[in-house]
Amino acid sequence: MEEPQISPSEWEVMRVVWTTSPITSREISTILNEKKDWKLATTKTLIGRLVKKGMLTAEPNGRQYDYSPAVTEEKSVEEATEALLSQVCTKKAGVTIQMMLENSTLSLSDLEALEDVIKLKKETAPLEVVCSCIPGQCSCVH
Ligand SMILES: [Zn+2]
Repeated sequence: MEEPQISPSEWEVMRVVWTTSPITSREISTILNEKKDWKLATTKTLIGRLVKKGMLTAEPNGRQYDYSPAVTEEKSVEEATEALLSQVCTKKAGVTIQMMLENSTLSLSDLEALEDVIKLKKETAPLEVVCSCIPGQCSCVH
């Protein structure tokens, strides 16, 4: 269950590879130049870390490598949200998600999809969420 965490810089690289693959480090670097003031060496370092973490695969192609994603964007986003929620007390998950909602621009269809999820969750929701923290890491009464 403990998946490797991706840094914000590594996410930038993954988003490029999820959009276009196979792709070389030079091509990734050119695309990211629009947004980031990184040297090619920086992009190559990030790519190297992502290969080591099993997020990217590298296929030799002449003198360079073609990179492809080893995981889907959907799976990675799912793991990142799970990781975020695992960092807060289970009792604070609701407030955390509420904050994310308030800070997002959502379309009418996004909101309708959320309403469906909420309707379904309501059918089996407990009256109160049980805290699973160790004493000293949250102020819930144990
Ligand atoms: Zn707690």
